[in-house]
Amino acid sequence: MKQLFTIFGNPVSHSKSPLMHNLAFAGLNIDACYSRYRLENGEMLREKFFELGLKGANVTVPHKEFAFLACDSVDVYAQKVGALNTIVQREGKLYGYNTDALGFLKSIEKYRDAKKVLFLGAGGTAQSVSMILRDAGYTVTILNRSEARLQKFEEAGFETFSFEQFVPKHYDLIINMTSAGLEEEIFPAPKTILESVIPTANACIDVIYGKETPFLKLAKSYNIPTQDGSAMLLYQGAIAFEHFVDYQYSFEEILPYMQLALRLN
Ligand code: NDP
Repeated sequence: MKQLFTIFGNPVSHSKSPLMHNLAFAGLNIDACYSRYRLENGEMLREKFFELGLKGANVTVPHKEFAFLACDSVDVYAQKVGALNTIVQREGKLYGYNTDALGFLKSIEKYRDAKKVLFLGAGGTAQSVSMILRDAGYTVTILNRSEARLQKFEEAGFETFSFEQFVPKHYDLIINMTSAGLEEEIFPAPKTILESVIPTANACIDVIYGKETPFLKLAKSYNIPTQDGSAMLLYQGAIAFEHFVDYQYSFEEILPYMQLALRLN
C-alpha cells in the first residue's frame, strides 16, 4: 500500500520538502507520496496525523514544539530542546526526531578548523543547533535582539549578549540563525556590530535559503566565504528520509535525489 507523508506548517506553501522527498521516493522506487498540509492549530497535530493515515511527517514553523508534545518517544536532540521536525509512525506509535540540528552540523563539516562560533539569533533553531555544536566541540556565543530569549541559553551555560552589551572579538564562524533577511532586506543585528566581527571571520553562514540575504551580501563585500541554508535543508531532509524508510537506504543513496530537487527550484 502506498505510504503517505506530509509537511505540517503554517505557512507551508513555500516548502521544498515535498519535491525533495517525492524525488527521492521516485528515484528509489518506493511506493509513497509526500504532500503539504497547512495546519492552523498545532494542538491538532497528532489527531491530524492519524486522521490522514500518515507513515511520517515533517513539521515546520510554528509547530515544532507541538510536534514534540504529539510524539510517544523522541530522540536525544528533540529531548534537549523540546522541539522536533520529523515524525515517524510505527505500529500506532509516533517517534520524533530533530534532524535540523544534525543537518546543520553536517553542513559545516567542511570548516574543519572552526571552533569559535557566533550565533545571531536565539530562536528554536538556534537552540537545537547550539546544543549539538557544543557536543561536537564548538564554543558557541549567542547574540540576540531581545534579552528575553537569552535566559535559557545562559541557564544552559552559553555565553550570551544582547546588542547593547556586545563586546566584539574574533569568531571563526558567524551564523545568522534569525529570520531577518528572509522577507525584508534587513540585517539580523546592527550593521556596526556585524562590521566589528565579519572582517576577521573564516566564513559567514545563513540558515535562510533560496536568496542571498543582506547579511551574506555584507560578508561577501569583505571577501569572506559565505554559505546559505540550502546545505542544511538538504541534509535535514536526507536524515528525515532515513527515518521515514526505517533506515533501509543510506544517506548517500538518498542525497542525489534531494540535490536534484534543489537544482530544479
Ligand atoms: P524563531 O521564530 O524560533 O526565532 C526567531 C529568531 O530570530 C529570534 O532570535 C528573533 O529575535 C530573531 N529575529 C527575528 N526577526 C528579527 C529581526 N528583524 N532582527 C533581529 N532578530 C530577529 O525562528 P526559528 O529558529 O524557527 O527559525 C529561524 C530561521 O531558520 C528561519 O529563517 C527559518 O526559515 C530558518 N530555518 C532553516 C532551515 C534550513 O533547513 N535551512 C531549517 C530550520 C529553520 P527576538 O528574540 O529578538 O525576537
